[in-house]
Amino acid sequence: MPDCLPDNAVETEHLCKTYRGGKRHPGKEALKDVSLAIPRGSFFGLLGPNGAGKSTLINILAGLVVKTAGSARVWGHDIATEMRAARSSIGIVPQELNIDPFFTPRELLEVQAGLYGVALSKRRTDAILELVGLAEQANAYTRSLSGGMRRRLLVAKAMVHSPPVLVLDEPTAGVDVDLRRQLWVNVRELRRRGTTIVLTTHYLEEAQALCNHIAIIDRGRIVIDDSTENLLSRIDAKQMTVTVDRELAEVPPPLRPYGAELVNGRRLVFRYPPSRTPTGEILKAVESAGLAVIDVSTKEADLEQIFLQLTRHDGAPEAV
Ligand code: ADP
Ligand code: MG
Repeated sequence: MPDCLPDNAVETEHLCKTYRGGKRHPGKEALKDVSLAIPRGSFFGLLGPNGAGKSTLINILAGLVVKTAGSARVWGHDIATEMRAARSSIGIVPQELNIDPFFTPRELLEVQAGLYGVALSKRRTDAILELVGLAEQANAYTRSLSGGMRRRLLVAKAMVHSPPVLVLDEPTAGVDVDLRRQLWVNVRELRRRGTTIVLTTHYLEEAQALCNHIAIIDRGRIVIDDSTENLLSRIDAKQMTVTVDRELAEVPPPLRPYGAELVNGRRLVFRYPPSRTPTGEILKAVESAGLAVIDVSTKEADLEQIFLQLTRHDGAPEAV
């Protein structure tokens, strides 16, 4: 452990990964020059379409996939030169739901604690089961657990060694709404207690609701990396063009607060956040400025659209 806490829970610099071709896969450049900083204490969303490279990035951090070039640090520890420290600083909830069905949740956590060398006196098996809502199932066979419970058991397993960074790779794929909600309650509680959370998903709404920072990866490259707030303020923007009945020399003063711009003598363009300024309010203001509206057209964007815009490849010949 470094003496003081790192500013960034995870950092990558110019990280690249090319999978060598084999029998099952052709060769694949899965990460291209990925430089990312995940601030300590954040709830960080890594979004991207299938095949974008999310799991590759996560698995490199976890020590499961070997990088081709560049560097990465987890909690200040270089994954190549301080592998043990890096690995003990991160817990991964994998995308696949593979759990040994013959263990009970309690046994599974105890085995995992043993693997990580957690001393008996430091084990928190019951507290962790409680936290993920599996206290009642502590001694049940895992094969009797529902999909959502298994997912939460994987979260518990990733927490056994108390890593300061917890990564969830597509944790809600195929999980029903109630269980998702429960999972998010658990994860938020962890974050409240100081754990840095990294979530990969392609559910944009989920990321928007949970994450305070979002990066979008597409075909191995980071295409957006910003706070959710900034991203949303970019998105919470509507544009309305109003054509009026009269030639204007300037924007009438009562319309200035609405971000109006005069495009040609009769056309006013308003750029405004629809969440705070209802479109009707602007139209009323136009009328009370003594203008009659001849024509109106609006354009708007949301996270979905921005995402599609960034990750759409018209005719780009790249196999996924
Ligand atoms: P995501 O998690 O965003 O869906 P992945 O990181 O799993 O994306 O995959 C990124 C790209 O790398 C995909 O094109 C995928 O087919 C390829 N890939 C993943 N794992 C391997 C592997 N072991 N060998 C070859 N190619 C792989
Ligand atoms: Mg994946």
